[in-house]
Amino acid sequence: MTQSMVTIEGLTELANDLIIQNTALRNRLDAAETQRDELLEALKYLYAVTETPPDKNCRCHIDPPCSDCIEYRGLREAINFARKAIAKAKGEVR
Ligand SMILES: [Zn+2]
Repeated sequence: MTQSMVTIEGLTELANDLIIQNTALRNRLDAAETQRDELLEALKYLYAVTETPPDKNCRCHIDPPCSDCIEYRGLREAINFARKAIAKAKGEVR
């Protein structure tokens, strides 16, 4: 007899295990989506209340690092990063 030992009971047990794993995975995904949405809302809020830095006026070619870069480089990079992340979350950018 070469028939495998597949039984209805065995398949039922396997199906139950898969359902439990699927539910656990779904719960973790839901939690991750909720966390992502909360972080995105926080980022949007920070973005909305953050004062936009003045246009770039780099004079590093004369005397690096210039006061414009010292003062605003980090903020400009953070705002640019936030804009991209928000656009990506909205599905505007891949
Ligand atoms: Zn500069």
